[in-house]
Amino acid sequence: DGFIWMDGEMVPWREAKTHVLTHTLHYGLGCFEGVRAYSTEKGAAIFRMKEHTDRLCRSAHILNMKMPFSKDEINAAQCAAVRDNNLDEAYLRPMVFLGSEGMGLRADNLKVHVMVAAWSWPSYMSPEAKEMGIKVRTSSYTRHHVNITMCKAKANGNYINSMLALNEAIASGCEEALLLDNEGYVAEGSGENIFILRDGVLHTPELTSCLEGITRQTILDFAKELNIPVKERRITRDEVYIADEAFFTGTAAEVLPIRELDGRVIGAGKRGPLTEKLQGMYFDAVKGKSAE
Ligand code: PLP
Repeated sequence: DGFIWMDGEMVPWREAKTHVLTHTLHYGLGCFEGVRAYSTEKGAAIFRMKEHTDRLCRSAHILNMKMPFSKDEINAAQCAAVRDNNLDEAYLRPMVFLGSEGMGLRADNLKVHVMVAAWSWPSYMSPEAKEMGIKVRTSSYTRHHVNITMCKAKANGNYINSMLALNEAIASGCEEALLLDNEGYVAEGSGENIFILRDGVLHTPELTSCLEGITRQTILDFAKELNIPVKERRITRDEVYIADEAFFTGTAAEVLPIRELDGRVIGAGKRGPLTEKLQGMYFDAVKGKSAE
């Protein structure tokens, strides 16, 4: 039950359908966002909504898809999706995709559709994982070529490797995957950016082989506030093994400690003090308790 915003109007959940010949279903050219609303003292608040909308529009631009709605309209759609579904803690999924007017790679008469769905999703990771950290394995799948050259788009087609990597990690008893780029440097998780702490310096891969994460930027802002030096550079797999602390960041994963990579215990094998501090700042920010 509930409603989904589709191409400018709210439609009942069950009627928000698309045809089997939807172009994006076949060739994967489309983009989306993962956004979250949190329950705050002032009601449901969508965290960093404008940043997500900006990235959605940048993704569409990179993919050469002409957005039929303005940023203000997309923002209003997200607010409506939360409000009209009476949601409090929610996950939002805006998506831009091509219609079914034509098939084949040359089709040029395709309608660009936009939808925003929202549903209740209080937590992605267990409280235990947030405190004790998760086990991760380096994936045998590398970041997809398109991701390397155009990783600033949160594009549908880029998630094939993410899914294969995550399935592989789960099948081997881990909770997440770490994908390397084509040259063997650390890129990111299946849907998260990664940070490591070593000797008081935070390191995170530069934006050449990972998504420009909104949570990543939030953590960079916190680090500045805390006067913690940050290096955005290529990092290697063994640097993660010997880090004092390591954590993933993402809208879904929030700030998630990594306790093990490929069977090597990282630091004390549980959430480290800086990770805990940043996690606390993040939860305060999403709940509207800081200068957000
Ligand atoms: N990397 C990938 C591949 C992702 O899908 C996501 C999630 O959107 C992230 C990183 C984290 O980005 P954000 O913090 O904006 O959710």
